[in-house]
Amino acid sequence: AAMTLATACGSSGGGNGTSNGSGGSGSKGGKMIALLLPDTTSSARYETQDKPDFEKEVKALDPSITVDYENAQGSDSTQQQQAEAAITNGAQVLVIDPVDSQSAATIVNEANQAGVKVISYDRMIENAKVDYYVSFDNEEVGKLQGEYIAQHTPKGGTVVMIDGAQTDNNALQFAQGAHAVLDPLFKSGQLRKGYESYTPNWDPSNGQREMEAALTKLNNKVNAVLAANDGLAGAVIQALAAQGLAGKVPVTGQDATDAGLHDIMQGTQSMTVYKAVPKEAKLAAELAVDIVDNKPIPSSLVNTKVNNGAEDVPAALLQPVVVTKQNIQSTVIKDGFTTMQKIEHPS
Ligand code: BGC
Repeated sequence: AAMTLATACGSSGGGNGTSNGSGGSGSKGGKMIALLLPDTTSSARYETQDKPDFEKEVKALDPSITVDYENAQGSDSTQQQQAEAAITNGAQVLVIDPVDSQSAATIVNEANQAGVKVISYDRMIENAKVDYYVSFDNEEVGKLQGEYIAQHTPKGGTVVMIDGAQTDNNALQFAQGAHAVLDPLFKSGQLRKGYESYTPNWDPSNGQREMEAALTKLNNKVNAVLAANDGLAGAVIQALAAQGLAGKVPVTGQDATDAGLHDIMQGTQSMTVYKAVPKEAKLAAELAVDIVDNKPIPSSLVNTKVNNGAEDVPAALLQPVVVTKQNIQSTVIKDGFTTMQKIEHPS
């Protein structure tokens, strides 16, 4: 990914007004965890779930720990600056959902040198000494999307694939899972792949442009769309609607956002993949608090290992669940993940 040189906040203490690490949030010497999330536009989850859920859990486990929350607004260089500031301000643990799974290795190297632990959150940071990884089975997410397409596209039908950001290791895994299901069908001629594209930054406006290009290229002969998340599904539905095709073509999604579930109720989106973000945030918070408080990590927290190119990282992986109109009640509503009220009026 291109590293953009940021002009603002050049030297230490630029944005936060903390003088020499004392006072403000996360004073030096105090207990502090930095939560570094990637953006606010690619999915509703970050500000409405990951952040508040994580903060709530840390507070419940050890109210003496400060959480320094930063959002990189889609820029990997901003995220690096935020991480460096957190290290300077005395964070003991960085919980990072990387903007760029490759370039974030630089952050991990700096943390390693400063003796600061790193939890790779939701997205793996590749080729670096990460202490823990907390996420979902991301290849399974892509398989669930692919299986839905396989089951709901007529024989010989044309499939469009609008994948996530290539800089996000998860997007690669989602695509890999989807291809594991669909490639044999493309090979046998059961289905036809008409168009596929990654979407820089997972930006819905990029996704809409790609879907428009796909419709143009295929003369509107599209029988199913694999959209990697609900934000992209919304963009795809807009492009389909402009051609009078919304609701006539299966469209997948992911995140079970209120907007996505709304479209599922309306019949323009077909499915979403529900990932229990509150559980994910809670797991990451438990790990981070145990590290800060020097407590042994219970083996029940970490159920597997995932290789990131540098090592086998101890990991906690949760399972994703398919949601359609039929099981909204017994999944996201029953779990208290959202409410019918919010689905009817997504913000
Ligand atoms: C997350 C998805 C999210 C996407 C865009 C992925 O890394 O796992 O839940 O929709 O990023 O933010």
